[in-house]
This record gives sequence, structure tokens and C-alpha cells, in this order.
Amino acid sequence: MQKRPHNIKRILALTIGLIGAQIFIPALAHGHGNGEPKLGFKTEKVSGSVYMLSGDGGFTGGNIGLSIGEDGVAMIDNGLPSVIELLKTEIAKTTDKPVDYLINTHVHGDHIGNNAAYGASDTQIVSHDNLRKSLKEKGMAIGGGKNIPAPKAHLPVITFSDQMTIHLNGDAAQIIHFAKAHTDGDAVIKFKEANVIHTGDILFNGMFPYIDTSNGGSYVGVKAALQGIYDMADEETLIIPGHGPIAKKENIASTIAMLEESYNAVKALRDKGMSEQEIIAAKPLEEFSSFHWGFITTEKMIQQLLEAL
Ligand SMILES: [Zn+2]
Repeated sequence: MQKRPHNIKRILALTIGLIGAQIFIPALAHGHGNGEPKLGFKTEKVSGSVYMLSGDGGFTGGNIGLSIGEDGVAMIDNGLPSVIELLKTEIAKTTDKPVDYLINTHVHGDHIGNNAAYGASDTQIVSHDNLRKSLKEKGMAIGGGKNIPAPKAHLPVITFSDQMTIHLNGDAAQIIHFAKAHTDGDAVIKFKEANVIHTGDILFNGMFPYIDTSNGGSYVGVKAALQGIYDMADEETLIIPGHGPIAKKENIASTIAMLEESYNAVKALRDKGMSEQEIIAAKPLEEFSSFHWGFITTEKMIQQLLEAL
């Protein structure tokens, strides 16, 4: 599996940081006009009716899943608010049908930033119970523990507690909740016939994960959810992660191993009575340096693990 160039990790980190500051730099959204790549989406056909849309030339938000077929369109997540026109333009290259169902994987603004743009029309927004509750009470999470109000059009109209299934395009999209993982309202979607799973941000493929404890996430929950996804997959399953390239079952296994080994390495140092600064200086995660990226640096990962002990 090819890795994304490091500059994408940097742009992603920069933009997630900017979301925290509630700033969307137009230059990032529309290209710099000085020969740097123009921001857009690219579409990859994954399997069966399922496609993946991801940022091209910069950061557009989390990976988007689409099921397009004779019955209509179901979409999983919808990127940053600033990319709505780019998103619509890209989808129109594959279908002229409207989006019937919009499934939200979790509360972060780089995944559900455009809910209102769809919710104001005939699109039915679907999410876990906790996500609707969180949007209604706290608003949309934009990073750094900050939230912006979610108007009515932004709110899911169909919610579920454990799991539900949408039948369309000759497939069954099974939507499953994993408790207290990346957040407390996570949904994972499995297309049974296409044999494709969209993990939301439970999987950052090839990067240290962000565990959003301020929105109910937990290390234990992320590990349990990854194990659940592993058990749902077979050797042929194609896995759309929240961020990063398409994954296979083996990438889930290596992510679980990385998490467990990292946790044990940090715990061993903490058990010796070392302080956070001493643990960071001891470089316990050096073996996993390829997972380091701008938003979840090795230092930040150590802090997340210390919080989980
Ligand atoms: Zn997220």
C-alpha cells in the first residue's frame, strides 16, 4: 500500500489545527494560484457500487464514501465546510442523482462540515443517537475542544443505538456503533456485497490515531473497535479509513499491534516512576516513527497514552 507523501500529512495537520482556530484559509481551499496544486477531490472506484472521494492537492477533510446505483446515492461523511462546491462538482462527474442518504461517522467538522447543505434539501441524514444529541446540545466539533452551533438542517433525522441497515443499489449498508472509540458517537459502515468497510476516524491508516476524549473517545474503545472491524473483515475486504489510503485487514492488525506495543512501552516507563517529560525524552515510540504526523506527533501520542493509563 503506497503511503501518502509527508506534505499531505503536514497540510492535514495544519488544516486540522486551523479548524481549531475557526479559520479556513481561502488559499488552502482554492489553491495558491502560483503553480502549487489546485485543491480538489479525486474519485476511486473501490468495489461494487462503492466509491471513495479524497482530497487532491490538499486537505478536504476525511475520506468520503459513496454508494451510487439504480436506487440512488448514499454518502458517508462530507468533508470540510469550505469544500462544498468542490465536492458537488466531483460527485457530478459520477452521477447526476441527488444524495438520498447521508451517513455521519462522527461529530468532527472535517467529516460532517456540510451536513446543513444536504439536510436543507431531501437528503436524509443518518447517525448514531449520541451524535445527534451532541450536535444539538454542543454543536459541531471543530477541534481543540471548540464547537460551533448546528442549525436544524445540520441534524440527523434518522438515528440508531446499536446498528441499522440501509438496503440500496443491490447491497446492504450495515451501520454499526462502536462505543467510546474515536468519539462517543462513532458509526462504521459495512457494504456486505461490495465487501467494503468505512471506518470513520477509528482508523487513521499509517498514522497515530487521534483519540478525542473531550468528545467521549477512549484508547480502550479505539482498540476494541479496531478489533471489531478486524473481525468483520476478510482478506479481500477493502477498508476506507477516516484518513489515509485504502487499507486491508492486515493494516488493521498492524495498527492494533502498534497501539498495544506503544501502550506497553509508555506504561513500563510510567511504572518506573518517570515523569511525562522523562518519558518523552526516553523515546519509547521510536520504532513507530513512521506513524508520526503533524497533528498527532510522537509526543502527542505519548500524551494520549499517558492519559489512557
Ligand atoms: Zn475525527
